Amino acid sequence: MTDPLPQQSHPFEKNASRVFRGIPASPGIAIGKACVFAEETDLAVGRWQVPPESIKAEVTRFRNALAETKKEMLGIQQQVLKLLGKSHVRLIEAYILILEDPLITKDVVKHITQNRVNAEYALSDAVAGAVKTLEAAPDEYFRERRHDILDVGRKILMHLMGRAKQPTFNLTERCVVVAHNLTPSDTLHLRTHLSEGFITDIGGKTSHTAILAQSLEIPAVVGLRDITRHVHQGDILIVDGYSGTVLINPQADVIENYKREKEIRAAKGKELEKLKNQPATTLDGHRVSLAANIDSPEDVKSVVSHGAEGVGLFRTEFLYLNRKALPTELEHYEYYVRVARSVLPYSVIIRTVDIGGDKLMDFGLGNAGGSEQNPFMGLRGIRLCLKHPEIFRIQIRAILRASNEGKVKIMFPMVSCIEEVRAARRIVDEVKAEMRREGHPFDEHIEMGIMIEIPSAALIVDQLAQEVDFMSIGTNDLIQYTLGVDRVNESVADLYNPLHPAILRLIAQTTWEAHKVGKWVGMCGEMASEPELTGILLGMGLDEFSVVPAAVPKLKETIRGLRYGDSQSLAQDILKNPTVENINQKLRGLSSP
Ligand code: PEP
Ligand code: MG
Repeated sequence: MTDPLPQQSHPFEKNASRVFRGIPASPGIAIGKACVFAEETDLAVGRWQVPPESIKAEVTRFRNALAETKKEMLGIQQQVLKLLGKSHVRLIEAYILILEDPLITKDVVKHITQNRVNAEYALSDAVAGAVKTLEAAPDEYFRERRHDILDVGRKILMHLMGRAKQPTFNLTERCVVVAHNLTPSDTLHLRTHLSEGFITDIGGKTSHTAILAQSLEIPAVVGLRDITRHVHQGDILIVDGYSGTVLINPQADVIENYKREKEIRAAKGKELEKLKNQPATTLDGHRVSLAANIDSPEDVKSVVSHGAEGVGLFRTEFLYLNRKALPTELEHYEYYVRVARSVLPYSVIIRTVDIGGDKLMDFGLGNAGGSEQNPFMGLRGIRLCLKHPEIFRIQIRAILRASNEGKVKIMFPMVSCIEEVRAARRIVDEVKAEMRREGHPFDEHIEMGIMIEIPSAALIVDQLAQEVDFMSIGTNDLIQYTLGVDRVNESVADLYNPLHPAILRLIAQTTWEAHKVGKWVGMCGEMASEPELTGILLGMGLDEFSVVPAAVPKLKETIRGLRYGDSQSLAQDILKNPTVENINQKLRGLSSP
């Protein structure tokens, strides 16, 4: 992510209203000026003449930037080594080798001294030359290496320009952020910046960027393909996060209509607030729990204000993002205790860390492991924790300590087999024994659960249910792994179908098998927050719905308008005859108020 593009004039488009459709990622309507962040694709910099007496200083400036970049890379290498092991540092080693290559160490210096040019220009010229040569290489492997050289070049350039430590975003006024892509850590910055909303070229509905936007209650539309080419700095944008529509420079009457729509929605929201202290009970008296998903302790205010019954999923990855060192036990503890205390008399389910996939550690690499080809299938969730028990134990200790201050449950993500559950439980037992010896009080009966988000787990749910106290269905991942559809890829978004018969069967089987052995089942994936699907899920026997706080009131209204008996018949009917036509027809018949 780079600084905003400079102001551009575009006489033909300035007053044209253009409509684009993308994927609605976070509800709400934003109206504001565009702030476009372009992807930095080259190293174009200015050239100026350096006077002879300053050449030495210019070379020193370049060498200092090189040393700084190397220091940064070595720091990243240590972190990755500690966290993910030797096999994951290859990419960083490759970067360090480029830093030591004569192309950088000798040619650039020669260029500065012989041609008396500034270091930025000499560097970008050397890198551009190397990229051009590699582009022409017949071998794919060599052609691909040009990206590494460009990356390293950019890093040195950032140090040369003193921009290495600048935050990703630098918004100076309220605006709608327009970007090719936003990572979850970019999105976290938006919490404290002046963003009205955001739109991106790429991304999917259940990407963590989209989920974060919902937590932050920022309207967002993703997967707009090439919107960054169409929007110009300062254009007026309307972002409709309900329908996924984006309008560029709309007419005044359209803006007025959207403003009215915004007011109507706000009034409806106020109306729903009246349900805040009402239970999530169906018309025929069936009661379910309606909890909220949070990404940080700051979200807890919203949990309480929207009338959720505790936290059904506390994602802890965000404690690890946007920082250089791993969080300490005390940081973990304080983070959890704030939530545990605030949601009393309800409980909080703290999910152990699930870094990986699209939630990347901010080592400045853009990839959790630095070299994972397929991070969603890689070292994430419980796999990472079991491989690095020293990191896992710190988190478990903190969660156990927090369990003494509120009602806390532990949940393990990305479970694919029974051995992982047993291994995780063993570590928890060891940590408990250690804490008893140390005299640290904790909840001896703390409940332990797992996420059902990998098809293999859903298929052996009868065995898994015996090992745990509860389960929570993570449909965001369950859908992507069952259907083989990347959750962050807009090109296959139409195939990401929660109502696919395979998904419905796995959900039904999970609740059925868990209930047989007296365990409860929740759902914390985004599917739980779709009011049109509430009837089916209720009918399949879900005990808890956990959704982004802002979605709680509408979901409560929906549940309170349904009959459990009807929902059960609906679920049975659909499972018997799971065609798209039947599902759509039945859903229309049981529509919410
Ligand atoms: C899920 O996969 O449905 C889930 C809730 O976990 P996450 O979105 O954090 O992967
Ligand atoms: Mg998941």
